[in-house]
Amino acid sequence: MTMKPINYIDYIKKDIPVLFEADCCVCGGGTAGVPAAVTAARGGLNTIIIEKGVTTGGSQTQALVLPFMPTFTEGSDTPIITEIKDRMRGEGIEMNDGVTEFGWFNPEKLAFVYDGMLEEAGVKILYNADLIDAVTLDKKIKYVIVNTIEGLIAIKADIFIDCTGDAALSRLSGVKTESGYEKTGNNQPMSFRFEMGGIDLDRLYQYTRTINDNWCATKPPYFEIALARHRQIKYALEPIFVAGYERGELTLDDIQYFQAFTITAKTGCMSMNCPEIPVKFKATNAADLSGAIVYARKMIHRIAKFLIKNMPGFEKAYISREASMIGARESFRIIGKYQMSEKDYYERRTFDDAVAKTAWYIDAHGEKVGDYLSKGEYYEIPYRSLVTDEIDNLIVAGRCISATFILQASMRIQPTCMSLGETAGAAAAYSKKHGININVIEWDKVENDIKAYKKL
Ligand SMILES: Cc1cc2nc3c(=O)[nH]c(=O)nc-3n(C[C@H](O)[C@H](O)[C@H](O)COP(=O)(O)OP(=O)(O)OC[C@H]3O[C@@H](n4cnc5c(N)ncnc54)[C@H](O)[C@@H]3O)c2cc1C
Repeated sequence: MTMKPINYIDYIKKDIPVLFEADCCVCGGGTAGVPAAVTAARGGLNTIIIEKGVTTGGSQTQALVLPFMPTFTEGSDTPIITEIKDRMRGEGIEMNDGVTEFGWFNPEKLAFVYDGMLEEAGVKILYNADLIDAVTLDKKIKYVIVNTIEGLIAIKADIFIDCTGDAALSRLSGVKTESGYEKTGNNQPMSFRFEMGGIDLDRLYQYTRTINDNWCATKPPYFEIALARHRQIKYALEPIFVAGYERGELTLDDIQYFQAFTITAKTGCMSMNCPEIPVKFKATNAADLSGAIVYARKMIHRIAKFLIKNMPGFEKAYISREASMIGARESFRIIGKYQMSEKDYYERRTFDDAVAKTAWYIDAHGEKVGDYLSKGEYYEIPYRSLVTDEIDNLIVAGRCISATFILQASMRIQPTCMSLGETAGAAAAYSKKHGININVIEWDKVENDIKAYKKL
């Protein structure tokens, strides 16, 4: 529900202290933001990253979203992804190399690895820092205004990277955005993820065999259970959840989508990719976002109680962690120089200025599921979908780049967002070094060795 303003007030002008000056300011320290900041700093830029939470990783570590979904196309992993996987291995977290399998990981270790990478690269990390405004002049962002423990502060930079997921910096600086599916107005459903501990995973696995649940090809410690009523597939778990609904233990909303993944190096724990919140709660509306949390917390407790009572292996389980950030799959998307659309997916388009490639399917949670690409097929994402006509010193990375609702449902997976962040950081360094505005760099003409994603 969109709230009508009660009134408008004058925003009182104040003197705001400029506390930091940098070559590059990355707003949002999430999935795309960390690769962006690390790459910009390694490219020689004095870089600051501002993050409203207390961990970097965003959806990966605060919204508890795992695993990395596969791009299903060889050669998509850019160097930063390979490095992150290697560093995770160095922390004792097993990670597979493939791009055709899930990239199971551990959120606490990832947050730790990210801090280390940022510090080593010399990035200034500003946690508990909420971007609230941008000061623009002559098509350039001059300052961002950030709310901190000290009150409002300003950060000056030459180049800005918007990795907020919600296109927050872009909107504050006047970039046009879109939101939701043009046919329904709905955003993709949000989820409020949680973890459960104390699960007997072997018992759960054995039970799934007795009910012929062949959904997951792997077994513990890398194991998943799921049901999704919007898909054609009939999941073995569905009758069990429907029976729970009929007994009054679950609601209809609770049983629409359920998914649980094991978590690397967290014995007996599963990460719940649910509850999926009804789409009447919009990801772009302040009151809805808050209402969604209250609604979803009730769902979490009902689902957990149901599992403990009915699901073999969960007898001694408990809620061990709740996300510190709601999981928004889609909110605001910028309208950039090139807007990607489902045509790019269906026509397997490639671009001279490509910055990433993927074959992940259109996963719009109920609105429309596109055809899968065949083995060896993929589409690419062009540089121009990361930059805008409105602002010369801004680049955008992550799930809010310029893409239609349907295409975004394919490009939003973590590895792709990480690669986009890496390119944004490399482009910032290139822009500074060559004195070229970041929004007019002809990426196809840039030397291959500075590109994260190299076309074959
Ligand atoms: C429920 C759910 C399940 C998913 N499942 C999978 C999956 O299994 N595998 C997969 O690969 N992908 C999955 N995805 C998609 C993927 O996780 C996201 O699309 C991706 O992580 C988004 O990356 P991002 O960098 O754009 O945003 P984020 O990682 O969310 O980062 C945005 C960061 O910006 C910060 N921020 C925002 N606004 C401000 C502000 N005003 N000031 C300061 N900081 C700010 C946030 O705190 C956050 O840290 C899922 C998404 C959701 C929501």
